Amino acid sequence: MFKDIPVDVSPMYEGERIRSANMFIELGGPKSSGAELIQVAEDVEDGSLEVVGPELSEMSEGEIYPFGIFIQIQGEKLEKELEGVIERRVHELCNHVKGFMHLNQRDQIWCRVSKEAVEAGFKLEHLGKALSILLKEEFPIIEKIAVSLFTEKSEVEAFIETARAAYDVRDTRAMELSDEDVDVFYGCVMCQSFAPSHVCVVTPDRTALCGAINWFDCRAAAKMDPEGPIFEVTKGKVLDAEKGEYSDVNAMVSDRSQGMVDRVYLHSVFEHPHTSCGCFEAVAFYVPELDGIGIVDRDFRGETPLGIPFSAMAGQCSGGKQIEGFTGLSMGYMRSPKFLRADGNYKRVIWMPKEIKNSLTDFIPNDLIEKIPTEEDAGSIKEIRKFLKEHEHPVIERFQQAKEEVEELETVEEVSDEGRVVGAPAAQVAYAPELSMAAGGGVKIILKNAKIYAEKVIIKKK
Ligand code: SF4
Ligand SMILES: [Zn+2]
Repeated sequence: MFKDIPVDVSPMYEGERIRSANMFIELGGPKSSGAELIQVAEDVEDGSLEVVGPELSEMSEGEIYPFGIFIQIQGEKLEKELEGVIERRVHELCNHVKGFMHLNQRDQIWCRVSKEAVEAGFKLEHLGKALSILLKEEFPIIEKIAVSLFTEKSEVEAFIETARAAYDVRDTRAMELSDEDVDVFYGCVMCQSFAPSHVCVVTPDRTALCGAINWFDCRAAAKMDPEGPIFEVTKGKVLDAEKGEYSDVNAMVSDRSQGMVDRVYLHSVFEHPHTSCGCFEAVAFYVPELDGIGIVDRDFRGETPLGIPFSAMAGQCSGGKQIEGFTGLSMGYMRSPKFLRADGNYKRVIWMPKEIKNSLTDFIPNDLIEKIPTEEDAGSIKEIRKFLKEHEHPVIERFQQAKEEVEELETVEEVSDEGRVVGAPAAQVAYAPELSMAAGGGVKIILKNAKIYAEKVIIKKK
């Protein structure tokens, strides 16, 4: 089937990583631009394949080029609503091609081609061929398919505009509904190939954290293939409407995560946040010193207030683990009125990169816009605290409350232990609405509304 393609094509190459030493060229990614789009169309010329711009043989080793993947599909049973879900499979299917690596989705795609593949005679044309075969195989309802790959800068730029407009149409539609309007949600386990315990719960308010799949897309996918990686889940009992906890969702997540996660709050970063695979568009992270939540997106290159960049944070909270204080999210979810509603919505957000803040101006309440600092206003915790105070951010009330409680505390008893500050008042160094501590004998200790006070904080360089 793949006889004209000079490299192997098989699911076994899915986990293949192409490091820079082994890379011939890079396509799209953070240092360039790119996008992928699948559209249902009429009059698709089946088997049509074009590379618009330089082929691999015309590219220089070590360079980075813009990249666009545009696929048109046609079929009697193909619905427009299936575009998003079929498009999401492009990531996995590209990775079946030995020597080709594809990361992320939509206008975030980042690809690499290995030196070995190019030496074997691999061309982008072969990638297009592989994609048309694999997509038809995966989705038999695709009767006709045409693939265009763009590497010419101006073509890619124009294509990105088209793709963004199409994503917007999908996303806007998803915003018309909210969680209460529907009887069922959807689960997605597509990312279990690399995050085995990860299950996405997709609801009208919470579009998938990869940003590529919304509730409508899931509905169409589950209808097309009920046994597939996207499936329906009933809500069951509403256990907590504010936090977004539902009995049937918990049961489904427990089952599909092999018992790793048994409770999920859809709208909170605390206690039982939604797990994260790795393809999230952004991460929400709790900053205990400020008792607020920071947001950082994949495109932000600098350091977050936690002192680490997005990449390091993503490494810590991905892989399907449920980590209190962290959750991966999509840009679409940040536009929902339920965005971290249980934690205070934007009233609790104390930092976010300027670029995403600007893109969310229609969704952040007017009275808060000027109160949330970006990297241009503040970087360190100290600077952020100062900014929040100066701009009367609502989170300040929380500090105030904590401070009053500290003042009420008596000064610490005089003790002779070395290193203690005698007679100094204790200072609150951390607050957590719920804090889990591992303890021996299969017991877990949970402290509710924990405030940790210290007589002295010693920061040591490792
Ligand atoms: S991030 Fe979630 S919704 Fe998106 S493909 Fe992965 S499992 Fe599915
Ligand atoms: Zn994922």
